[in-house]
Amino acid sequence: MSDLSDKTIQAYDGLLTGLLQAYSPSHQERPASEYLASWMQSAGYDRAFVDDAGNAVGILGDGPREIVLLGHIDTVSGKIDVQIIDGKLYGRGSVDAKGPLATFTAAALQAGRQPGWRIVVIGAVEEEAATSKGARFAYWRAEPVGSVDAWLQRPLAAGLPRITHFEPHRRACAYRP
Ligand SMILES: [Zn+2]
Repeated sequence: MSDLSDKTIQAYDGLLTGLLQAYSPSHQERPASEYLASWMQSAGYDRAFVDDAGNAVGILGDGPREIVLLGHIDTVSGKIDVQIIDGKLYGRGSVDAKGPLATFTAAALQAGRQPGWRIVVIGAVEEEAATSKGARFAYWRAEPVGSVDAWLQRPLAAGLPRITHFEPHRRACAYRP
């Protein structure tokens, strides 16, 4: 988008760099979650916090309809120095999946509040582990059906959450009509 100021672009670049610098292999996500929550708080999200599973959660706007944008904040282990070489940013998780997470954290803010919608951005823990603890916690809170699998198997019906995209390892997006 050409209408972003240099300051805004710097803030968004800084978000990803900061996330990469907060080394966060599975089960050690706390510093990264706290970083992301505090970034969202100061950047203008209405609410931002670390939830009981350790996920970073940011909320924009309010309303009867909800969009959840969920990506994972943990990485596989093994540090990679955070640096820019020939215009490319390197660091553990830069592609999988802090890059996408930072992108939609910024994009939701840039798009702004939408009448009638609550937009929830989640940096989930334990997606590079087999547990998917963060995503499961988020889904249970959204609709207490007992498990993500049960939720996925539900028939689509008006008023029920509807998952439009779910890849356990990568990211999930839920849409509640
Ligand atoms: Zn991943």
